[in-house]
Amino acid sequence: MRDPIRSIVIVGGGTAGWMAATFLARRLAHLGVSITVVESSAIGTVGVGEATVPAIRDFFAAVELGETDLLRETEATIKYGIRFADWKAPGHSFFHPFGLYGVPARGVAFHHYWLKRRAAGDATPIGDYCLATQLAERGLFLPPSDRPANDLGVFNFAVHFDASKFAALLRRLALANAVGHRDAQVTRVALDPERGHVTGVDLDSGEHLPGDLWIDCSGFRSLLLGEAMEVGFRDWRHWLPCDRAVALPCSSDRVHHPMTTATAMEAGWRWHIPLRHRVGNGYVYCSDFIDDDAAEARLRETLESEALASANRIRFTPGHRDEFWTRNVVGLGLSSGFLEPLESTSITLIQSGLERLLPLFPDRNFDPRLAAVYNRQSVLEFERIRDFLMLHYQGNARHGEPFWDHVRAIQPPPGLQIKLDAWRAAGEFVRNEWDTFQDASWLSMYAGFDDLPAGHSPMADQFTDAELRDSMARMRDAITATLAHAEPHATFLARVTGAWG
Ligand code: FAD
Repeated sequence: MRDPIRSIVIVGGGTAGWMAATFLARRLAHLGVSITVVESSAIGTVGVGEATVPAIRDFFAAVELGETDLLRETEATIKYGIRFADWKAPGHSFFHPFGLYGVPARGVAFHHYWLKRRAAGDATPIGDYCLATQLAERGLFLPPSDRPANDLGVFNFAVHFDASKFAALLRRLALANAVGHRDAQVTRVALDPERGHVTGVDLDSGEHLPGDLWIDCSGFRSLLLGEAMEVGFRDWRHWLPCDRAVALPCSSDRVHHPMTTATAMEAGWRWHIPLRHRVGNGYVYCSDFIDDDAAEARLRETLESEALASANRIRFTPGHRDEFWTRNVVGLGLSSGFLEPLESTSITLIQSGLERLLPLFPDRNFDPRLAAVYNRQSVLEFERIRDFLMLHYQGNARHGEPFWDHVRAIQPPPGLQIKLDAWRAAGEFVRNEWDTFQDASWLSMYAGFDDLPAGHSPMADQFTDAELRDSMARMRDAITATLAHAEPHATFLARVTGAWG
């Protein structure tokens, strides 16, 4: 490095800001870079964002945060996937697991054998061949094996946590790792007149804070990337029309099954995120189809117990900034973009942004090629997730309901159309660079919506129906045998946290 970065300033102390601080403090400790977080307790955080995907476990490991500490200190629960209720039609549900289905044989994917058996009249749901689905539906916990015997044992878990307790835990970790902290409001951003770089910020405490590299974690305000750098925003409402949410926690008197639930509603869907001390609920909706008061009223009707706080109403535009990194500013979290939380992807995008930043870590010359590589990756990641989210809406059969008729009729972007065509024509998955969701996730959606190819691959005909019936029965038996080693989710949490009887 010719002119190394000496200081990093992170603007914002929400989940994004403190994840960035802990991660960078760990990974850059040997470089002696100073890291400072500026946040404003007067402004606060978005106050939602409590469901994760299994990649979060890599983040815990990277910042040396023990999972037992995490479970204990953030009132966390386990998540093996998401149950989608009423999406295909009222009363119908399916599960998107963090795990694989069945065992492939002779180079042929399991789902072709499953399709063949189905055509022969075997109605066994595909979830019966997935350990993660069975654990979730039975309310059990089993840690994933480091060396599973075959694909039946391949699964993982994520967590649900209290977002404010998670941010507080990370803050403690960051401060213990020499991260500086200011509780003050940024009132002005100073730019270098020649290069247009951010040189410093004025705080309402009267301090002027200089810095080399700036991480914008200021939330939807996008103080640096959006306001100071004037980076435009790609609005994706025509693809994902939901643009508002109302969140309302309620009390909890039991440990729920280890899953998030996403239930279709008249103008969107609602989440149910079980924590140990409360349940997070929220209705994500499209403002063209329901107004804010009606949405809040509808959410209140669904609460399983008394509300614990007043409703938090949030407006958002789905999409992302044209650039995630411009000059000496990198945006992470809501400042850089947002997609509705249907698959809990925002926190994992923060993590991925940090992981991708390190190999491209700049010096003070800020070679624009680094930002160009980073931006290309970030855009692809967003587009791939957008396509997967759109799939959730494409398959609905809620005919005669204006919102659902509207979202079903939206023309898919080309990348999604290619995936749909390959699936419907041949039962095949198209894989892309920077896909967050892999084959099993797509399969869970297709099977869940009964959006199945006309037939199975001829490659699956190398086994007779009788052979398949027997080997698939053995797979189900193997899953049942493994379930015997699991313990109730509540027992597991009580054991590791010592907090639940
Ligand atoms: P924020 O939490 O808004 O933090 C912004 C920070 O910037 C605050 O500390 C604030 O004080 C500070 N700030 C702002 N302006 C100034 C200023 N002028 N001076 C100083 N400081 C300032 N993600 C998931 O992964 N899973 C989910 O289940 C999920 N659910 C969601 C549901 C909804 C309805 C929404 C809207 C989002 C959800 N997300 C979810 C996204 C998740 O909430 C965010 O990605 C995550 O909380 C990170 O937010 P943030 O830190 O970028 O912004």
